[in-house]
Amino acid sequence: MKGISFPIIKTKGTSGVTYDLSSVDERAKYFYEKVGKEIDDLKQFMQKSTFVAYMMGKKLAGKGTYSKLFMEIFGKESAVHLSVGDIVRAVDEVKGDETKMEELREYMERNYRGFISLEDAFDAFLGRDTSKLLPTEFILALVKREIDKHRGKVLFIDGFPRSMDQVSYSLYFRELVDYRNDPDVFVFIDLPEQVIDERIKYRVVCPKCNTSRNVKLLPTSKVQYDKDKKEFYLLCDNVECEPVRMVGKEGDEKGLELIKDRLMADESLIKETMKLYGVPKIYLRNSVPVEGAFENVDEYEVTKITEFKWDEKNERITSRDIEWIVNDDDGVPSYSLYAPAVVVQFIKQLHEVLIK
Ligand SMILES: [Zn+2]
Repeated sequence: MKGISFPIIKTKGTSGVTYDLSSVDERAKYFYEKVGKEIDDLKQFMQKSTFVAYMMGKKLAGKGTYSKLFMEIFGKESAVHLSVGDIVRAVDEVKGDETKMEELREYMERNYRGFISLEDAFDAFLGRDTSKLLPTEFILALVKREIDKHRGKVLFIDGFPRSMDQVSYSLYFRELVDYRNDPDVFVFIDLPEQVIDERIKYRVVCPKCNTSRNVKLLPTSKVQYDKDKKEFYLLCDNVECEPVRMVGKEGDEKGLELIKDRLMADESLIKETMKLYGVPKIYLRNSVPVEGAFENVDEYEVTKITEFKWDEKNERITSRDIEWIVNDDDGVPSYSLYAPAVVVQFIKQLHEVLIK
């Protein structure tokens, strides 16, 4: 973020071993080399307790990815990633279903408390009265209802607080959801807007199985060339799918522009939350300055991209891996780190917060 520089957490190893971070097996070995002791301690901690992590990062910062990698290390059942936006949307789908609406109403009668009546809140929720905003207390009750299904798991909360007036609620969130004895922590994620820009511009999705990839940052094993459009495209390589052409969404070529307002709102919310006292904070960096980078990180932790070229004469694609250098929001040339390296930063700091 412009004007803010998170501390650099050293993830460089001493063994000299190189890992392929795209492979699940290699990742497991990688995590054990880098933070094996921390993982063991945290596993022991999690046998008796859980914690609540508020994931504070801009849209497309990789919040879901980091939560998934955490579960890869600690077990699928150890944690749950709850997107508050998704929860509200999912409940939205209940609207037409009488039985489910009745269940929801009953739950809310027991759990909702707030400044506007439950009836008015439901009217806002059902869109009958658009003059009323869905109150935060109502959203919190919806979230609590979802959390009740995941008792005893670590919670990664994504999308709350969502606005300034929700920030102070986050201070009491764990009390609200009956996790009062479990520690909570803010996890701030910083990544250059240029990375977000390219994540949008080059993202594609398989029309058949919905797998999403990125032509530039995360291609499949099957890259093709479209001679008419003079562009490279990907075929789906999901083993349970077919090699169909993956497609981009109209408007994505605009990149950052597409979500500029949202990103600005996200940034001021993050900066405001960083001022809070009393809740421990973890800082994750998606990028490190190129200068001096390899004193702190290993070369294989740094994102490389495959550059494709069309060889006109021989009618074939050639490719080579190149370094990917982005400017951070202050214009400093930087390397973007692969997600597992960011998770190593997370585990190191989480260990300090929970175990010490
Ligand atoms: Zn597919």
